[in-house]
Amino acid sequence: MTFITRFAPSPTGPLHLGHAYSALLAQDMASANSGEFLLRIEDIDQSRSRTRWENQIYDDLGWLGLTWPHPVMRQSDRLQRYRDVLQTLINKGLVYPCRCNRADIELAAGAPQEGVPQFGPDGRIYPGTCRQRSMTEAGSDDVLRLNMKKAVEQVDILTFRETGATNSGDHFVDPDDLIRLVGDIILVRRDMGSSYHLSVVIDDADQKISHVVRGEDLLEATQIHVLLQALLGLPTPVYHHHNLIRDDTGKRLAKRDDARSIAKYRAEGASAQDIRAMVGL
Ligand code: GLU
Repeated sequence: MTFITRFAPSPTGPLHLGHAYSALLAQDMASANSGEFLLRIEDIDQSRSRTRWENQIYDDLGWLGLTWPHPVMRQSDRLQRYRDVLQTLINKGLVYPCRCNRADIELAAGAPQEGVPQFGPDGRIYPGTCRQRSMTEAGSDDVLRLNMKKAVEQVDILTFRETGATNSGDHFVDPDDLIRLVGDIILVRRDMGSSYHLSVVIDDADQKISHVVRGEDLLEATQIHVLLQALLGLPTPVYHHHNLIRDDTGKRLAKRDDARSIAKYRAEGASAQDIRAMVGL
């Protein structure tokens, strides 16, 4: 199998040390396996994505010594592809329109009950208010959700292989966990034409990604991706969730942490080798 991996940043802020680690690790793993490293720009959230940040990504990654084939895949160019694939899920009767806003969801969720989880990898677990609505009622203000209970009934056993140090091994995805702890995830967000989960599985398949290298903050989302791959008949890559780079207080770095941005280190005269050393590569 050809080893193909990718780095998939969203151009919503400056790349920081954590991104540098993820991208360098992915390219190192590709080189060690005589494989390929791809770059993908995850910019479906056009309200937060900026050309300025996209250009800074190319600049920073080039400075770090990374190379990648062109043209670069950009999610904003692929909305029609996402719509086409979504139709498969609609045809299977797994998608419904939801008009609930955050306040509606809070209200319907009611008071927290002991032993009943409130939040999953996709935020608050949806209480199901709109679950009986049909796609013929879908309006332009609606989001589209996956009926998780129906979805898990349509797939066989779900498994994936993880090679990241903390969780390495073969994993089963528990269908009950998907229903109880994840719930009816959003497949198409308002004004976006897609969602992270839908786009990422389609892109990874279309780019023939064999190994997904990304931060362990996305480990919980992987069960959703494995489910969508099974529903869509797409292959499941090997996953490698790496540890996160943290600041001195142990907090994970965020896009707003300009203090740790690669651009800032560059401006202060650091070299790409210095950045490698800082992230332990
Ligand atoms: N675009 C995501 C981010 O910037 C990464 C998605 C992934 O690697 O699956 O956090």
